[in-house]
Amino acid sequence: MMINSLSEVGVRVKRIGIIGGGASGLMAAISASEAGAKVTVFEHNNECGRKIKATGNGKCNLTNTFLRSSAYHSSSDKDLNRYFGQFDQEDALMFFRKSGLMMYEKDTYVYPLCNQAYVVRDILLHRCRENGVKILTDHTVNDISLKDSVYTVCANGTGYEFDRVIMACGSYAGINDNDRIDSNDDGYSLSYHLGHSIVKVRPSLVPVNCSDDFCKKLKGVRMNAKVTLTLDDAPAAEEYGEVQFTDYGISGIVVFQLSRYIAMEKERNKLLILDLMPDMSEEELKNFLHFRDITGIYMTAGDFLMGMFNKAVNEVLLDIMKIDPEADHESELSQRLDELASLIKGFTMHPTSVKSYPHAQCCCGGVSLDEIDDSCESLINDGLYYCGEIIDVDGICGGYNLQWAWTTGYIAGRAAASEP
Ligand SMILES: Cc1cc2nc3c(=O)[nH]c(=O)nc-3n(C[C@H](O)[C@H](O)[C@H](O)COP(=O)(O)OP(=O)(O)OC[C@H]3O[C@@H](n4cnc5c(N)ncnc54)[C@H](O)[C@@H]3O)c2cc1C
Repeated sequence: MMINSLSEVGVRVKRIGIIGGGASGLMAAISASEAGAKVTVFEHNNECGRKIKATGNGKCNLTNTFLRSSAYHSSSDKDLNRYFGQFDQEDALMFFRKSGLMMYEKDTYVYPLCNQAYVVRDILLHRCRENGVKILTDHTVNDISLKDSVYTVCANGTGYEFDRVIMACGSYAGINDNDRIDSNDDGYSLSYHLGHSIVKVRPSLVPVNCSDDFCKKLKGVRMNAKVTLTLDDAPAAEEYGEVQFTDYGISGIVVFQLSRYIAMEKERNKLLILDLMPDMSEEELKNFLHFRDITGIYMTAGDFLMGMFNKAVNEVLLDIMKIDPEADHESELSQRLDELASLIKGFTMHPTSVKSYPHAQCCCGGVSLDEIDDSCESLINDGLYYCGEIIDVDGICGGYNLQWAWTTGYIAGRAAASEP
């Protein structure tokens, strides 16, 4: 006897509604449909995966071969390896390879060979189409209710019934204020009304505003530095790499990584201390400056610094020391080289806030991970699952946030389709 469907042999096919057609929602749709479920994706935008298209400056840094739980932050103590143990970077690479995507690795960061982020999105959509996933774009879900083990999802005035619901609504990051979903309908609000706790949401991986007058002079300068964030004068975090000075403050991956602390620790006294010569100790730098002073011939203070840093940085350093670049080197700067060394090693900026959500690559905070089990199922409501950035887990730069979306999307989809 030929069997045409699972229902013919008494297996009830699960109806799954997925709220959000981004990275995690599309991955959940694929894994759920492959496990035999009948899947519908609701997407607020007129296309799925709009954010994927913007990732990695349009190239999509889709994962990192050096995956580790320490690359993530959460207010929960839960070991994220409980999720990565089920679907890690190797599984993501295998998934995309099998889907036809060729990729390359650069310093552990993985990109599609074509360097086109939208192709990653298109591949996910292609897999959804192959599996018969129903995608409803321009559909904003504004209510989810549960009665007698059946979920009713309301979108655009119509109610849809499902056995399982997967919340894949993402965060506010990278979305212009005009495109943002009404705060009553976003994933945090829907989850709150379903009984979940929401850990305070803030922009992360975002440029930082500073109050220092010299910002305008340094605008456009890029240089390598070691950046230490202090909170109430105690070092809290440290990063090394390229910083970008802007007219409002400071940016660059190094600063992005520190931005979550600035966003979260509003009440504390914060400083960003830049070591502009990180390859030398302060002692070595002092010796170097004295040697430079003895061996070179300099007319002005500006001449002495010429060739060390960008001209704008030289001018700001002298400005802070209240020395005119045209002043006589011998009388003005020569006697203050130790002070100059300390300034170079401890160039201090005063962060006031972080840029707003549209400028951020992800958000910290979200639906508490402590209320979600290892299958990504809600501990508050049976049959409700969570994946992606809506959860209170945020990764550092380098493909970690998309990996979290692939990992949790895969787990949520498979579990929602398979669990009895
Ligand atoms: C500019 C930028 C660059 C980035 N670059 C990288 C990178 O290179 N590597 C990396 O790892 N990460 C990167 N990220 C982060 C990464 O894109 C996100 O972490 C990831 O897309 C999160 O996936 P998600 O599915 O959780 O959310 P999203 O991709 O945001 O998808 C959520 C979807 O749900 C929809 N939705 C929400 N609420 C509703 C509702 N009520 N009804 C219907 N639909 C709804 C939204 O419209 C959205 O399409 C970047 C982010 C930005 C903004």
